[in-house]
Amino acid sequence: MLEYIPSISFGKDSTAMLLMMIEHNESIHSVLWFDTEREFPEIRTHAAKVVSDTGVKLQVVRHWAGFDFLEDRYGRPHPSGGWCTAAKRDCCNKYIRLMRKDNPDIVECIGYSADEQKRADKMSKKWPVRFPLIEWGITEKMALEYCYDHGYFFGGIYDWMPSKRVSCYNCPKQGPKDWAAILKHHPELFPYNHTLERTPKSSASQLNRYTPYERR
Ligand code: SF4
Repeated sequence: MLEYIPSISFGKDSTAMLLMMIEHNESIHSVLWFDTEREFPEIRTHAAKVVSDTGVKLQVVRHWAGFDFLEDRYGRPHPSGGWCTAAKRDCCNKYIRLMRKDNPDIVECIGYSADEQKRADKMSKKWPVRFPLIEWGITEKMALEYCYDHGYFFGGIYDWMPSKRVSCYNCPKQGPKDWAAILKHHPELFPYNHTLERTPKSSASQLNRYTPYERR
């Protein structure tokens, strides 16, 4: 039986993809979300709202030791990609591979927008992948408007984040304007963010590093 697993970050593009798939009555097996434990608070709150509103089955995956461990071991990820993207890809692939053992007709869905055709062309996986937003000609701008029209405002983060890059708050791809915006809106995140030599987290803070989701 054909079923889809949308792989989502809960940013504007993947949120629009999920909402549109639900609107189109697509058969959704589960929604795959990789928890980097470095999401902006706005995105965590938004994710909880989407899951609660839609009733989708959310599957959270995490790296076994976490990004803090990887960063302590390998240093800051390179802006062009590095251990962070590899860890995310490998953990998500593991889940899809496992689910396809139960149902070989499962298709992964990725929220690349119509602006990202080249990125989609480069993707190579061992199973079928769909890019619904590209199929439907939905650009990044249209995706954000769609989310807003459906009552999802991401806590206003897209209004103040210059790059609109709202995944990991300390992503090495952030530019100086992003750092300034993060400092203004989330000063509590900034020292961690912008200090290349991170202060190791205490064991106690590691125990509290993520916010559990309310499961339906
Ligand atoms: S958002 Fe940035 S830091 Fe986070 S996984 Fe992606 S590239 Fe790495």
